[in-house]
Amino acid sequence: MNPFGSSDNVKIDGTPVRLPVTIGNPAALSPSPTFQKPIWMPDTEADACLNCDLKFTQFRRKHHCRNCGKIFCSKCCLDKVPLPHFGINEPEKVCNNCKLIVELMNKAKSTEMDQKYEAVIGLSNMLKNTAGLSKVIECGGINTMLSIAVNGNNKIKSAVASALHCLAQSMMLNEFLVETGCLKVLKNFLSSDSSCSELFISDSLSALNLLCMDANIRVQVLKEGMIDVLLAVVISSSGVTSVFASRVLQLLVCNFEYHDFILQNHSSIISKLFGALENEDYQMQACVTKILMYFSAGSTPFREMIIQEDVSRDFPLLFLLKSSSQGVLVHIACIIANLAISINENYMHHYITGMCELLKFVNQENEELLSQIGRCLANIAESPSSALHIIHHLPIIISNLLKSPFEVPRVHACRLQVYLFSSELPGALDALSQSGLDEFIETVFDLPGITDIISGLLLRKVSRLSVCQK
Ligand SMILES: [Zn+2]
Ligand SMILES: [Zn+2]
Repeated sequence: MNPFGSSDNVKIDGTPVRLPVTIGNPAALSPSPTFQKPIWMPDTEADACLNCDLKFTQFRRKHHCRNCGKIFCSKCCLDKVPLPHFGINEPEKVCNNCKLIVELMNKAKSTEMDQKYEAVIGLSNMLKNTAGLSKVIECGGINTMLSIAVNGNNKIKSAVASALHCLAQSMMLNEFLVETGCLKVLKNFLSSDSSCSELFISDSLSALNLLCMDANIRVQVLKEGMIDVLLAVVISSSGVTSVFASRVLQLLVCNFEYHDFILQNHSSIISKLFGALENEDYQMQACVTKILMYFSAGSTPFREMIIQEDVSRDFPLLFLLKSSSQGVLVHIACIIANLAISINENYMHHYITGMCELLKFVNQENEELLSQIGRCLANIAESPSSALHIIHHLPIIISNLLKSPFEVPRVHACRLQVYLFSSELPGALDALSQSGLDEFIETVFDLPGITDIISGLLLRKVSRLSVCQK
């Protein structure tokens, strides 16, 4: 029985593994965890040694291994070793299969760091084949490695990070890893000072990334407070490490359901992300803007925070439009499009000008970017107070959006035009009739059901049946 979760039936290569039952809470990472002793196999279940297969007789007696509880002949169950992981400090009989792991568990209990390190390396090596992996799990080897790691030196931490990276790859142990406190350990690793090797941090991030593939685990990662830790790595590291940390962060923010939690517990996240945007690395900018994109599509408070941050920092989002990669441009256009409904009219013209400048130079083949710019300008145009600003840019909107070969930018341009009509500014129709009327009519009349709607509206002005007045 595992009281801490649902990972009871872990199978390795189809064979069920008996998970260790920790005395106390496994996630507490006690410095010296002990586990329940195995249940002995009943004598009646073995008529031959489980190792060498020789039949038991009156002279070849049955011996229980105190570590695995299985039955062996005296030659295959010869050595006596203490079993500290079961709280047994006197030497007890163990089978040949268990001897190595029991010796490693003894080293793990040592007060010497070198001995502990040897234990971690030995246990890590055992993880490489299925028999060894099962044995390490059953004896509480994984729990023990995690416990050692928290208070271990850098060498030990690196070895455990590398082991966790390997373990998380198979996915089936991930729930078990989380139940044994692996998230606490990874948090400890990722909070380490910058003197740690890049490999150590990247192993820790890889393990966390793999764990975050599971939606249930993502919730626990959030509750563990990993957002702040990851943000710190994003901001304080450089190059690949920083980009990698921001990718893991993306996994945590892509689900809008978590946004309320994030808002309550990490209210400075938007400000920190804007800080990270000052980094000139394009890959980094792409990652950070992607995270901001998720927040901008989520709840209103996040949209308001993003606008506030952008305004108070003198519009870095617009500044980035002048010199970024295509990927970053798409993200920013998408962010501003999402923000549009919350932008205060005092700042509206900044965003309109920024977007229209981008529209002038945008590659006309870039459908995604054109679509986002179109969505952005049309969303802004929904606000009547924007009409005066937008109308100055109408020629470029007509030539690059309304006349675009792609449908989505065209439809957004028509939306924008319709909002301008409703603002009743005289220039709205003039500019359109000079050069874009054909495209407008073609796009609008291509919409399914539009003719029914228009005929319905016309019939509200005049009637179909009538009699003559005279
Ligand atoms: Zn034997
Ligand atoms: Zn054994």
